[in-house]
Amino acid sequence: MTQPPLFVTADTLDPFVFDRAIIGLSGGKDSIACLLHLFEIGYPKERIECWHHDVDGREAPAFMDWPCTRDYCRKLCEALDIPLYFSWRQGGFEREMLRENQLTAPVLFETPDGIGQAGGVRGEPNTRRKFPQQAASLSTRYCSSSLKIDVCSTAIANQPRFEKKRTLLVTGERAEESRARAGYAIAEHHKTSNGKREVWQWRPVHGWTEQQVWDIMEKYRINPHPAYHLGWGRASCMTCIFGSPSQWASVYQIAPQRVIKIHAYEQDFDCTLRRDGDIMKAVNRGTPYDMDPHYVQLALSEEYTDPILVEDWKLPKGAFGESCGPT
Ligand code: SF4
Repeated sequence: MTQPPLFVTADTLDPFVFDRAIIGLSGGKDSIACLLHLFEIGYPKERIECWHHDVDGREAPAFMDWPCTRDYCRKLCEALDIPLYFSWRQGGFEREMLRENQLTAPVLFETPDGIGQAGGVRGEPNTRRKFPQQAASLSTRYCSSSLKIDVCSTAIANQPRFEKKRTLLVTGERAEESRARAGYAIAEHHKTSNGKREVWQWRPVHGWTEQQVWDIMEKYRINPHPAYHLGWGRASCMTCIFGSPSQWASVYQIAPQRVIKIHAYEQDFDCTLRRDGDIMKAVNRGTPYDMDPHYVQLALSEEYTDPILVEDWKLPKGAFGESCGPT
């Protein structure tokens, strides 16, 4: 490193000493709040970029995520004039889940100079052939690690533009969301830090309440992801493994083929997605949300066509509601 060492701790992290801030933009309110917080503190816009880790990859239509999420993120970044780079594991969730005596697939990542690729060539072939299981452990709940966390690390570690630079990875986990997240550090050295690059992960909204998150969304007049308008409290994957029975009943009402496909895989694997029985049992236990057809159509479309910036901002139906999602 040519730069002097950083004297950063969880309490002293100064975002302005970093050359670049990468926002892990899921499309959900908390990651957007991170981006807006950087605007609030006057962080130079030209040093910010957003990354969206696409859990379903690019090779097939969405299997787990909301079809609109990619384009919602794209339109959001266009409206706020921030570059957005997508990254994904080849074949996405479905290919990783169906792995049978195979290596995990390579990671692809957009960069300012085109698409990079890394990984997928070392290690021992092994088998998954089951859904990630509901657990705080990231190896059991492998979707978060294989399809988001590791994809992000691979994309940082394989871009020379981060070498000899200080990079801040900004993510939106909040303590209120779960006991596991409450234990996360506000700032910590990222695993991609080494002699070549300095990388820190920062969770600036870790101590925020849900009210504070909606307040900043309202201040910047950001129209939230359609999932919130439908009644979801968090915009995780549409068929997140942590979904509540009412969310499964709601998905079954608007996109039954999704649930039917998941149920067919449960039978094929002889292993359910949930611990309390198969997915049809969850559907039958739940009560579908009262969903506005406009938002159903918007959420299920690959093109996001509503405005991102709205004058008559309203708290969406899902605010302060069921907040199931990754723990
Ligand atoms: S949102 Fe849910 S299903 Fe999607 S990657 Fe995260 S934990 Fe897995």
